Amino acid sequence: MGFEIPEILKISQQMEDKLIGKKIIDITLTEHSKSIIKQGMSNLDKRQNDILNMPITKIFPKGKWIFLEFQNNNILMFGEIIGKFSYIEKEESLPLKYHISFQFEDGSALTFQSSLYAFLTVATRDEKSQHRYAGNIGPSPNESNFSLGYFLQVLSNNEKKPIKSALNIQDQISGLGNAYINDILFESGIHPKRKVSDLSQVERDNIFDSIIKIITSAIQLGGSADEFDLYGNSGKYSRIMDKNTSLCRKCGEKVIKENILGSSSYFCSKCQKL
Ligand SMILES: [Zn+2]
Repeated sequence: MGFEIPEILKISQQMEDKLIGKKIIDITLTEHSKSIIKQGMSNLDKRQNDILNMPITKIFPKGKWIFLEFQNNNILMFGEIIGKFSYIEKEESLPLKYHISFQFEDGSALTFQSSLYAFLTVATRDEKSQHRYAGNIGPSPNESNFSLGYFLQVLSNNEKKPIKSALNIQDQISGLGNAYINDILFESGIHPKRKVSDLSQVERDNIFDSIIKIITSAIQLGGSADEFDLYGNSGKYSRIMDKNTSLCRKCGEKVIKENILGSSSYFCSKCQKL
């Protein structure tokens, strides 16, 4: 599990509310952060001087990423996040466990604790635009350019793929991941392994409607109940199909868990036929 668009929007907004105008004066990389650096997901060991003592001028979300821009045009990119950010006020103490902390000149801090991995990368504008993932992020379901016409075009570009993977091509549809895809496919009654070429026009329309319905609801509810915001509060969106779901809420059949394309899918074999 990790941050998908509802969680990204909430945390990005909280960062914007708290961090605009602040300067990072120090960055602590604990022992635990070494695995992220070793995996090439963070360059904060080498590039922190590019953002230190420089006011943050802009913070914005896109897909599964949050971008912090500094006055010198450098960017701190957080993306593909499985973990937890915490905002710590001046008089509060840091959490017991964290991988990386950013200290601000006013005494406040932002910490990140990884549960698996995340990108925490410093980049110039050019480096961002050339970044393998951050440089090419498609429309996400909360954006006005994510229309039915656009969605149908993405499907027709990916007819040979199973629907589960077609919904998770971040440079075409951004911000969806395994967790919300499980709920979207349940809502639309589609088995995750169905090939796009096998889907009828009605099924394609239904998937689009389900994406909008599920994501709009999750955004309004402040993201998933399984993820935390900067203040340690979880969202209020309860996942429909996850490890805690034993019976289908539509027909009562036992929910099946299966590893499909590298992550756990939860589906009902009666309501989501292959
Ligand atoms: Zn069912």
